Amino acid sequence: MRHIKRISRNAKTNIPIVLISTGLVFILLLLTMIISNGIIIFCVNSGFITGRPGGTPLLPFLLQSGILSIFIGVILTLVLSHFPLRPVSRLINAIHAVAAGNFHVKIRIKHPKEFRELAESFNQMTDELAGIEMLRSDFINNFSHEFRTPIMSVQGFARLIKKGDLPEKDRIEYLDIIISECQRLADLSSRILDLSKIDSLTMLTDAEMYNAAEQIRSSILMLQQKWEEKGICFDLDLEDREINGSPALLKHVWVNLIDNAVKFSPPGGKISLRAVCSGDNFLFQIRDEGKGIRPEARRKIFDKFYQDDLSHATEGCGLGLSLVKKVVELHRGTIRIESAPGQGSTFTVTLPCHGTDTVSLRQSE
Ligand code: ADP
Repeated sequence: MRHIKRISRNAKTNIPIVLISTGLVFILLLLTMIISNGIIIFCVNSGFITGRPGGTPLLPFLLQSGILSIFIGVILTLVLSHFPLRPVSRLINAIHAVAAGNFHVKIRIKHPKEFRELAESFNQMTDELAGIEMLRSDFINNFSHEFRTPIMSVQGFARLIKKGDLPEKDRIEYLDIIISECQRLADLSSRILDLSKIDSLTMLTDAEMYNAAEQIRSSILMLQQKWEEKGICFDLDLEDREINGSPALLKHVWVNLIDNAVKFSPPGGKISLRAVCSGDNFLFQIRDEGKGIRPEARRKIFDKFYQDDLSHATEGCGLGLSLVKKVVELHRGTIRIESAPGQGSTFTVTLPCHGTDTVSLRQSE
């Protein structure tokens, strides 16, 4: 969209190109005239041409000088057009390279200004394409790793059970591992499905005015078993106000952030949750007393499959926060993190209370 705006803005400023082309045509005509007149004068003076201005016959003279002018004009055009078209041919070669899959190609054009801007936009486009390509290959690597690990573990424990000479206690333990690994695979695939559905959305279509505090309360209840098991208590400050948003999508935001706060809180910890209106915005703030997030990790936690714990010991697959960020962006909101190692984390989501001008959610084609 940014690029489209830039192109349409520049469409108004192409007067210099028109002037340059007109100037070039003018110079070509002038050169053709000077050279052909010079040759004609030389030919007439040395008697190569029989007809002369003011003399007779006039027709052969005009014919000869016309043919000569066309001939010289064609040669001049062929030679001189090569220079202004050089940036265009460089651009064509670069486009061919991109079409062949090379996203690292760059072009440098200094003059004229319009071609320099075209080259800069082209370089920006290849940078973005190279970034997307890197994300795609990272995604495939992580995706395969995340699926392979539980499958290998299910396979290993199923083989042990098949041997049949296991004590009953071990057999039950291995079966429990198989069940939980299958659950992990099922969760992973539904997370990926959610993410790919939400990733392809470009605008909201099911936005409506609804009570977000009510939905946050029901999200906390949904996770009751998890926080009760850890003996976690909640300090709640929920303001019952209506906001404009997609209830189905915002539910992912509350559930993921509450689930993370519970997951990373120490047993017996406290979670403070505030959901209030501040001016024209709806503010959702959740604070835990967990292990906190390192400054280097803070930049990456919204990346798909990123987990700060490399041992992957905590439950989860690193997709929750990228989903949260996408939903918040669709609502034209922001998400902020304040955290320090060992001092807990605070996630703050700010959404416009009255939503965006867009009221419909459409799947991008
Ligand atoms: P996951 O399903 O692994 O929790 P997320 O995308 O929700 O995936 O989170 C990505 C990573 O961000 C987590 O693995 C964890 O390292 C870090 N993280 C998220 N929330 C918190 C939190 N409240 N406290 C500490 N670390 C967190």
